[in-house]
Amino acid sequence: MLKIVIPATLKFRQFYAENKHMNGIRPVREHDIYELMDIAHPDGTVDLDEYLQRVVTKSLEWFDASGISIFVRDGGTDVFRLAKADGLLSKVPKDATIHEGEGIAGLAIAEQTARLLKDPRTEQDLIEKGIKKNEAIGSSLIVPLATRNAGCIGVLNVARSVETGDFQETDLEAAEALGRQLALAVSNARSFSQMATKTQHVMRAIDQVGFGLMLIGQEGEFIDFTSECSTILQSRPREHLTVNTYLPTISPPFQRPLKLGLERAQKGLNYRFRVQDDTRGTSYAVVTSPLANGGLVVAIHDITDHEKAREAYDRIRRLAEIGQMTASIAHELRNPLAGIRSAATMILEDPLLATEFAEIIDREAIKLNQLCGTFLEFAKPISLEYEPIKISDIARNLGVTHASEFEKQHVRLEVKSSGDEPVLFADPLRIEQVMRNLILNALEASTSGQTVTVEIDSYGVVKIQDQGIGMEPHVVDRLFTPFFTTKPSGTGLGLSMCQKIMEAHKSKISVASTPGQGTTVELNFNSKNAA
Ligand code: ADP
Ligand code: MG
Repeated sequence: MLKIVIPATLKFRQFYAENKHMNGIRPVREHDIYELMDIAHPDGTVDLDEYLQRVVTKSLEWFDASGISIFVRDGGTDVFRLAKADGLLSKVPKDATIHEGEGIAGLAIAEQTARLLKDPRTEQDLIEKGIKKNEAIGSSLIVPLATRNAGCIGVLNVARSVETGDFQETDLEAAEALGRQLALAVSNARSFSQMATKTQHVMRAIDQVGFGLMLIGQEGEFIDFTSECSTILQSRPREHLTVNTYLPTISPPFQRPLKLGLERAQKGLNYRFRVQDDTRGTSYAVVTSPLANGGLVVAIHDITDHEKAREAYDRIRRLAEIGQMTASIAHELRNPLAGIRSAATMILEDPLLATEFAEIIDREAIKLNQLCGTFLEFAKPISLEYEPIKISDIARNLGVTHASEFEKQHVRLEVKSSGDEPVLFADPLRIEQVMRNLILNALEASTSGQTVTVEIDSYGVVKIQDQGIGMEPHVVDRLFTPFFTTKPSGTGLGLSMCQKIMEAHKSKISVASTPGQGTTVELNFNSKNAA
């Protein structure tokens, strides 16, 4: 509940306590004061109209007034519209407006000073300005409603009929105190309803994009939810006071994971999970999170279409890969087979050449066998044996193993490791295979005098950089396609294998290259945590 306690109210109360026996002013009960401080209902909603009505009714009684009106500023304009009127002043037309600087009230607004009018005919400045007053009204109190932040946001007019007798200075002081309270209440109610409208807009927008969103308070009570929740969870949160009674009524596949998610959120942890609803053939991504103010939020998104599209895409990609692989395998097998066939033809023509050509047949058969081995190796699923490893150790060992190849081409290999290089949990043999492929590719792209650099930072991000020939964008696009090679004796399986191994480690490999300037391959072992 939004309660406003301000010095003005206390002053108002104190004033009445001191003056209650004077001048016919009625004593103000504490209850009355509190009622004026309460602008929100227990459910948190604010009804400004109802609040103003309370103020009007009370004020008529306290001030022994015959009429009251409250005008409130219209947006950012200098027009004030009638918000509430009672008694004598209820004759004011509903669409009445006051302009800043015009009329008695307009003047009070412009000058931001409250004024007590006894007999309108004796108020010199009003006479000079030609401002007329309602003849039925005797004395009145005109109080601009101003707050420090919002400035003048309205005007309160308390009037007595000619017969009742004039207001006194003490009444003006009391009306000013009431005015300060009223100004705060109006401006708070406005901010409150602006906030509520904004929240409503946001929730509606979230609903429209098909998101289920539930905001849950500290005691498990529903603060807000989008209508999509009822559709996805097949039960209406509206019919429940708390999430505890709601959970057992929702679609069964959600019950357990959502309960777990809410428990985790209560402990301050985020929880993401996927729920599959086999009876409807749908799947959902769900996130439960703690909110900063102590509540919880549940977000549910239908990912059925997304998953179907992904499956279809994966299938097409696999088929395309198989097609490419089959074509490449056929091509690779054809060369040694052609060799074998021509050797056999020679033997048939001249059996005396059998020994010589049998050697060729044997050599080509061995090649065929090796090729089959490579294909099978590539096609096999990867199983990993995790161990703590340091990439810099692996890179340095490879530098030793391949030292003669680097020396022959006059290329340097430099391994740079940040002092706090992390120990990674990975399969050492597989990571060595990745690093070997990348280092040798870099070497093959380099020319005499250049350097291949392996750099590992403190996050475990590895960069293998060369200053070699680089690649055109269309080559970069096809790098990870099995059997894609630009080298006469290349297999085109090196980078595909690297990608397969990195994916098995739930890590990422990426390539950036500029023709003529060199290539950088990046291995990111952190991506599994970020995913
Ligand atoms: P292979 O080395 O057998 O050709 P890879 O999969 O290792 O197969 O590489 C595929 C192709 O990518 C190479 O043929 C080459 O054209 C290109 N490539 C890979 N690494 C580099 C590099 N560091 N610099 C330039 N081109 C490269
Ligand atoms: Mg290679």
